[in-house]
Amino acid sequence: MSKQSVMLKLSAPVEAPKPLEQLTETEIERKAVIGKITTYTLKNLTDYFLVNGFQWLLPVALSPSTDPLWPDPGASIEKRIEVDIYGRTVRTTASMIIHKLIAASTAYPKLFILSPNVRIEKAERACTGKHVYEFTQLDFEARNATSRDIIRLVSDAVCNLVASVKRDMKDELTYLGRYDALKVPKMPFKICDKQELEAEYGAEWENCVAMKNGDPVWITNIPREFYDYEDFATGKWDNYDLFMPQYGEVLSGAKREWEYDKILKKIERDKINKSNYSLVLKLAKDGRLKPTAGAGIGIERIVAWLTGVKHIAETQPFPRVPGTVCDL
Ligand code: AMP
Ligand code: MG
Repeated sequence: MSKQSVMLKLSAPVEAPKPLEQLTETEIERKAVIGKITTYTLKNLTDYFLVNGFQWLLPVALSPSTDPLWPDPGASIEKRIEVDIYGRTVRTTASMIIHKLIAASTAYPKLFILSPNVRIEKAERACTGKHVYEFTQLDFEARNATSRDIIRLVSDAVCNLVASVKRDMKDELTYLGRYDALKVPKMPFKICDKQELEAEYGAEWENCVAMKNGDPVWITNIPREFYDYEDFATGKWDNYDLFMPQYGEVLSGAKREWEYDKILKKIERDKINKSNYSLVLKLAKDGRLKPTAGAGIGIERIVAWLTGVKHIAETQPFPRVPGTVCDL
């Protein structure tokens, strides 16, 4: 496949879905089928983490510390929501990364959260088919885990999910025209270095990876936020994204930083407001932050890939398309 046809296929604008109350009878039937697969996916993935000894934490919606989402090559935030309550400024959860680091270092060594994320994406992302401005992460973290542990765990979870959904949701996948095209992946998935991909494919490397591989692929060594582990000696980042075939990124994660000097240096290097991260800095300084690794799986993205829908907002009962606020 030429580079040009790859780009055309994955970056063609996608029409945003209609709100629930405007759907026709046939569209409601389709929505219901996608809803069944979402419920199945949530049960399958949460069961998987429970069986593997993870504790289920409930999420928070407002707090002073949330994900800076910077610097991340994929970020495009138009606006951050901040509000004063009880004399302090709080932000809507962009991700629970800071909470996870502290929870996994203290009372909950292996945890997961179905965490609502609010990210006011730029309106121009309405037609990527991959972005909504509210979504849910299955966010998990494990104390003393390595990247290799997390890669193995998630690869196994994905193979188990696809095999189970094909077995138990055959009618639904067939209705959506997805049953035959959705293949149970083979482990181990390929692992590729981002810098090497960029050297080979240039700026369009993400589309090329998604289109060229028949199985999921792990991408490593991605320069981004301060909490992902960076080896200062080699300049390599010990982090990873999972890309699904014909789709793209559904998960980002990393081994994390836990040492005060490194965290401080990176926050200052990235010109991030230190006062928003004073607690995590204090815990790191006191030696109370532990080495952890984890990731966040985008629930809507993984369901969009499983079901083969064109726009991710089709997986949402109440679509959150960038640039559009509906009544519901
Ligand atoms: P991040 O750590 O920012 O990559 O977010 C973790 C995961 O959440 C990503 O791999 C996606 O699956 C999902 N995600 C991130 N941003 C969005 C978005 N705007 N809309 C839907 N899903 C998203
Ligand atoms: Mg990401």
